[in-house]
Amino acid sequence: MVSRQPTAPNSSGLTSTDQRSPSEGWYRTLQQALQLEADRGYCDLLGRRERFSEFLIRSLQRPEARLPDPGGAQHLAERFEQYQLLSLPQRQSLIAQCRQQLHRWRQQQRPLDPIGPPRLRLQNADAGSRPSSASSHATRWRSETPLAELPGIGPKTAARLAQLGLFVVHDLVHYYPRDYLDYANLVRISGLETGHTATIVATVRRCHAFASPRNPQLAILELQLADPTGRIRVSRFFAGRRFTSPGWLRVQQRQFPTGASVAVSGLVKDSPFGPAFQDPLIEVLDGPQAPVRSSQIGRLLPVYGLTDGLSSKRLSEAIKAVLPVAESWPDPLPEPLRKQERLMDRSTALIQIHSPDNQKQLQDSRQRLVFDEFLLMQLGLLQRRQRLTRGSAAALLDQQTDPSHPDHCLVNQFLDLLPFSLTAAQQRVLAEIRADLGREQPMARLVQGDVGSGKTVVAIAALLTAIGAGYQSALMAPTEVLAAQHYSKLCEWLPQLHVRCDLLTGSTPARRRRQLLDDLMNGQLQLLVGTHALLEDPVKFARLGLVVVDEQHRFGVRQRNRLLDKGLQPHLLTMTATPIPRTLALSLHGDLDVSQIDEIPPGRTPIRTHLLAASERQEGYQLIREQVSRGQRAYVVLPLVEDSEDSDLRSAVAVHGQLRDEVFPDLHVGLLHGRMPSADKQAAIGAFARGDTQVLVSTTVVEVGVDVPEASVMLIDHAERFGLAQLHQLRGRVGRGAAASHCVLVHEGRNAMARHRLDVLVRSCDGFEIAEVDLRLRGPGQVLGTRQSGLPDLALASLADDGEVLERARLTAQGILGQDPDLRQHPVLSHLLAQQQQRLSQSIRLN
Ligand code: ADP
Ligand code: MG
Repeated sequence: MVSRQPTAPNSSGLTSTDQRSPSEGWYRTLQQALQLEADRGYCDLLGRRERFSEFLIRSLQRPEARLPDPGGAQHLAERFEQYQLLSLPQRQSLIAQCRQQLHRWRQQQRPLDPIGPPRLRLQNADAGSRPSSASSHATRWRSETPLAELPGIGPKTAARLAQLGLFVVHDLVHYYPRDYLDYANLVRISGLETGHTATIVATVRRCHAFASPRNPQLAILELQLADPTGRIRVSRFFAGRRFTSPGWLRVQQRQFPTGASVAVSGLVKDSPFGPAFQDPLIEVLDGPQAPVRSSQIGRLLPVYGLTDGLSSKRLSEAIKAVLPVAESWPDPLPEPLRKQERLMDRSTALIQIHSPDNQKQLQDSRQRLVFDEFLLMQLGLLQRRQRLTRGSAAALLDQQTDPSHPDHCLVNQFLDLLPFSLTAAQQRVLAEIRADLGREQPMARLVQGDVGSGKTVVAIAALLTAIGAGYQSALMAPTEVLAAQHYSKLCEWLPQLHVRCDLLTGSTPARRRRQLLDDLMNGQLQLLVGTHALLEDPVKFARLGLVVVDEQHRFGVRQRNRLLDKGLQPHLLTMTATPIPRTLALSLHGDLDVSQIDEIPPGRTPIRTHLLAASERQEGYQLIREQVSRGQRAYVVLPLVEDSEDSDLRSAVAVHGQLRDEVFPDLHVGLLHGRMPSADKQAAIGAFARGDTQVLVSTTVVEVGVDVPEASVMLIDHAERFGLAQLHQLRGRVGRGAAASHCVLVHEGRNAMARHRLDVLVRSCDGFEIAEVDLRLRGPGQVLGTRQSGLPDLALASLADDGEVLERARLTAQGILGQDPDLRQHPVLSHLLAQQQQRLSQSIRLN
């Protein structure tokens, strides 16, 4: 007997093939659990000992079968760790994938079936399922033809399609299926598996049509089918009195004469007689080798997202009718490139994604369309980069450097002042920045680094490089609090370096403001710190060389244009607030060079993170008390500023009152939130930094950059309300000194799902890893926070799963633009790009 799976020397080759082997049992138990979970509505069933997801994780982590792909089982197990957090469709999809995977493994381990899967000839899709009149219509339609002009689509249907965002032919072609029913899975009867869709080709052994003995309104058609591997029962049900008439029943029965060949597609269910089909699609074939006429049997059937009043059939037909239009659409990718990337042509991909004959076709067409989505995105970003760096900036070479005494340059003087030396990663990134600054092409660079990796020091060194070269520089922060904090940090060093620095915010008094603007204009003021207000009209620099944008704010096209309008083309350095996964970074910041500070300064004790249920909150307070008694300080973070009627969340104001009056009456408890006047915020942070208050109750305004080394504990209430990346950023506010630090995440104990998610933070301190998980669980919008925009427009591609395609698309985009910066030789690509940008700007306007 031949096994596809190489057999380990010490085990009998038969074990994996024996129906009663432990491995068969393992597969069967798992499949049954999956089936049951699906039957009960994907609610993570609670079994006797554990939940469904726990059972799955346990079983997948310790498979009792020798799997062709053990890593795959681990990966599946990891995905089930997040099961509770998934939405219903995500759960459905995970379960379906898991079932298919198990099925494939099991198939691979079975000895080669002496009888292969049946063959079924499908009629050519163009010839069979599409009336020729449709094709001739189709050639008349253009991609911008309104859907209401198509035959069979009246104003009502058109209105419903519009609800799905489908207005013209182009939209319909690009309305990709959300899922597929896999009837392309052709199997023999003995290989049928409960819970899977499948197609068999078999012979009718018996057929019986009768009225249900229990329900006179119900007719039942029962077929006994056989193939060389076994038999199966197929039933179909017909509800309605007219179906139970003897005449009708006879007609039914005559349709399936004994010995006839039939093709059957459907979902395999468990029945008292073993696997069975109930109400499948059936077609009697002209002969065992004859092609099937049905456009559904034996195929992968697309499943579309629908809306009220629009049936799946209706939508599928409409899409099918317009698909031939796509045949004549030119391919944006030249043939050699397509060959090189092993991509099918775009028209075929567009048509096949709606009507794949098999999984391979589906994967190939998806691959092509995903590639195109990423390619357009990267072309857009890289063209933007071309524009960013097209002008010329001043080369900022340190003039105060005497080459024989490099120690004397401003930057090195600053580094000498620091009580620590830069980490290797900081040095590397600083060198990259300084190399950029030495060129006449404007820098467009992003510095990424985990919380606490020391981005600020690097930024200051960059600013001083510009100042050392005789230019002015600006540091912009997203909030006044952060700007003020940067300013006070700078004041520790800059006076010693004889650099003049000032702070400009919305609350700078008018007189001082005037003075400051004067000094800026005559060049005496070398470094200006502030918020985006720095770009406002009256602010004029004498010689602006470098702008550093810290945390969160993305220096957008608008801001850049403001500067250009002032005749300025400075170098630009952006620092991210949170580490983000590479796929997201490429999608969002693909127009920038990226430097990564991938090292945390030595001497930090890692933060210990604890999960507490709301009922255990007192333990968290106890920890705060202990820490404060040792001279440390504590943050208490809440999602809301004030109590509100439509939420039972605890608010900063309420908790502040409670902690001050009841929990810590002997301590000084401060309050900080975004709605406080700027001066009060400043005062609250100042008091906390000095130690006048030991506990600071706050909203997430502390998230960004607040730096108090004595703070050694942070308690975050309603932690389930925050994204993982945001929580990681928040907890980065502690652990900045040498003392062992703690982060306490208090969550609603009822919510097991939230607990599960928060566990990631207990396990990991790596911001990139945490962001990856967040991306997988909550999607890109959540990782970035709702305030961020500029997310890529991806219909099919997934930033969590298609990273490899993204990398290839980026390389391709670089290659194309390298030879053809304005896409003159790629008119189709250029057109698609313009279309996409138009759609994007329209949707932004609509928002
Ligand atoms: P972030 O990357 O989160 O903005 P910061 O720049 O605020 O981090 O730095 C965090 C803390 O680490 C600051 O107190 C800073 O002074 C300190 N720090 C920065 N670089 C080093 C280093 N190389 N060695 C020791 N401490 C450092
Ligand atoms: Mg920082």
